[in-house]
Parts: sequence; structure tokens; C-alpha cells
Amino acid sequence: MSEAQSQASRWWQRIPLYLQIAIALILAVAIGVSLGAGKPDPANIALINNLAVPCDLVLKVLRALATPLILLAVLHTFLTASIPGTAGRRLLILLLTNTVAAILIGLLVANILQPGVWGQIKAPAGTTESLTKLDPWSLLQNSVPGSILQPLVDNNVIQIIIIALSFGIVLRALKAEQIAQNRTDYLPLEQVITTLFDAVVRILEWVIALVPLAVFGIVAKTVALQGFSPFKSLGVFIIAVLVALFLQACYYLIRIQFGSWVSPKRFLMGGSDAFLMAFSTSSSTVTMPITFRVLQEKIGLRESSASLGALVGSNFNNDGTALYEAMAALFIAQVLGQHLALGQQFLIVLTSIVASVGAAGIPNAGLVTMTLVFSSVGLPTEYIALLITVDWFLDRCRTALNVMGDMTVSALLDGKQKKPEVEIIVPTLESKGWETVD
Ligand code: ASP
Repeated sequence: MSEAQSQASRWWQRIPLYLQIAIALILAVAIGVSLGAGKPDPANIALINNLAVPCDLVLKVLRALATPLILLAVLHTFLTASIPGTAGRRLLILLLTNTVAAILIGLLVANILQPGVWGQIKAPAGTTESLTKLDPWSLLQNSVPGSILQPLVDNNVIQIIIIALSFGIVLRALKAEQIAQNRTDYLPLEQVITTLFDAVVRILEWVIALVPLAVFGIVAKTVALQGFSPFKSLGVFIIAVLVALFLQACYYLIRIQFGSWVSPKRFLMGGSDAFLMAFSTSSSTVTMPITFRVLQEKIGLRESSASLGALVGSNFNNDGTALYEAMAALFIAQVLGQHLALGQQFLIVLTSIVASVGAAGIPNAGLVTMTLVFSSVGLPTEYIALLITVDWFLDRCRTALNVMGDMTVSALLDGKQKKPEVEIIVPTLESKGWETVD
């Protein structure tokens, strides 16, 4: 690369991602309009279709990264997080109820507002897939993998989670046994898993750097072929997701009001630094140190509850992501004019829980695991391309809710009794029985 080229690429990299995407959007609309805005010249069709190539490639890599990301994220958390036994069970129940509530709120809002019926989007060529019907027995049968490697090849999210959880639990137990015997045999494996996890995250960063190019191509193509009507439904989808995230935040505050000594006002004011940090970084993992600090210093929780919610939650608890994935699947089904029966929505609930557990607390991880939710109900993953255009913003919002969810769990674990203030008793001379001399 010449000096001038490398200067130019450094200049581009210094622009924040959301600005890069905004620039890509503006250019794409201009190109889309000049190529026909819904009434393209047949001579240009091949060129217009090729505009989607970068987006297809980005989606392909995201699908490929999904399985290693989930597997390594779960193994890494099991090997490195410290969870005491009894609190672990309470934690599990809190995590599960909150995540199920988030998904139900998401599905409810998407069913009522129906964002997908606001604009018609043509199905990409070759997507005649039919939705998978819910059959509880085959679901159970299919959840057990036929071989250890098959789920990695098939991108089967439920089987991958089962493998990840089994190995995670066993490795954790082995580590505990070895520590008790003063052995360190587990260390090399722990280091390999940590390094591989970091490597996958690094590759994901490269792919994310290409997102502006993907957005440019897919938006230019969509505008050129279909005009602006598809974006109407995307706008309603953004509103629907924001409404659902807001309702979930209210649900947290109600739980805190009744299940913890912390008042919702104290929670919101004390936690504001963490919410803002989550919004600006799109990463609950990067926000974790701040989450941990505000829980202890500003809200005043015990260290044990703060660490369980913040440290474990930032890895496993992603309610905002679960809510978003469920809504996105329903949205695309609506766009396709496919009615999702209750059984199929239940399948979405199940896979969204699994996908949110597997989504690491890093930017756009939800987009990666979403490919698995779509595949599990038979929705064409090509449509995730459209969601890429709005993910940079919705990712920030759902990350803030993910962090709020972790903090809620901490507040609930802390219980209704505030931690006793440490009384500093300064012994006076009189209390020691000594006479003071005036
Ligand atoms: N960015 C989110 C987080 O860090 C994960 C996601 O993409 O949904 O919590």
C-alpha cells in the first residue's frame, strides 16, 4: 500500500463507526436514486444486484463466526467467572425470568405494532424457504447432537449451547478439583480458550469495520430496485424496538421497587454513568468495570451482589439482545407476509434465550447470533442485511438495557436489607476510662 493510500485508510478509520455508516447511507441513497429509485433501467439490473455483494459476504462471515463465538464465550465464562453455589441458583432464576419477560414484551409489542406490514420488501431471489413448525418431540430429539462437530457445521444453536454448557460445567468442576489438590493442569486449556475467544472477537472487529461498505451496497440496491417503501417499515421497527426496550426498563424498575431496598430513583441516578457508557461503547463487557463501580459506590450494594450481577451478567445476561432478536425474527416474518403461529413464536422465545446467552458483550454480537435464531425457524438470513442498516443505533440502545438488566439482578440479589453502614467508633479518652486534663 502506498503512503497516500495508508494515510487515507487511517483517516477513514479515525471517523467513528456510526458516522461512517451515516456517510454510507447518504451516498447509498444518492446512488440508489440515480439508478432508478424503484424504477431501474433493465440494463442496470446486473450492476445493481452486484452492489449487494459486500453485504452478502459480511453476512456469510457473521454466520461463520456465530458458532465459535457462542462456544468460546460460554466456555470462557464458565472457566473464569466466580459464582458461589447458593447465590448461583438465585442468580439463574433471576436471569431466566428477566430474559423471558424481555422476549415476551418484545413479541407482544411486535404483534401489536406489526412493524413489518408497513412497507413491502421483495424477497431476495431464491428465498422460498418455509418456516419451521414447532414440534416439541422433534425439538427435543434435535437438541441432542449426533456428533460433537456436527452442530458446528450445521450452525445449530441449541445443540451448540448444549455442548458448550456440558463442557463448561465439566471443565469448571475439574478446575475446582484441581485447585483443591493444588494442581494447575487446567491453566493451559484456560489460556487457549481465552486466546481463541480474543481472536474471534478480533476477527469480528475486522468484519464490523466493513459494515459501512455493506450498508452502502444493500441500501443503494434496495433504493434502486424498490424505492423507499422498505424503509418505512424499518422506521416503524426502530420505534417498536424502542417502545419494547422502554417497557422492559419499566419492568426492571417495578421489580426493584418491590424486591430490593434500592429505590428506582436511586437506581437510575446512581446507574446513569454505566447506562451512558453502555450506550456510547455498544459493549456491556467494556462497560463492566463502570457497572461494578456504580453498583457499589453510587447505589451502595454489597460487593458480592455487585460482582455477581455485573461480572456474570455482562457475559450471560443480555435481555436487550434477546428482546431484539425475537422482535427482528417476527418483523422479518411480517415483512415476508408469513404468519407465525404461537408454536413458532415459542420456538423464537427458546432460540432467542439461547442466542442471548451466547452473545458476547461486544458490539454487534446480537447481529451474529441472530443468524442462528433465523435459521432455527427457517427465516431467510438474507434479510438480516436490512437490519444491518439500523443495528449501529439499536445495538447501543439494547446494550444500555443489557447493562440495566445486570444491575437489576444485582439490586435484587442484594435483597430488602441495606448493607449495614460501617460504624467507625473512635475511642475517646473517656471511653477508655482515662481522665482528660483541661
Ligand atoms: N452489544 C451488546 C452488548 O455488548 C450485545 C449485542 O450485540 O446485542 O451487550
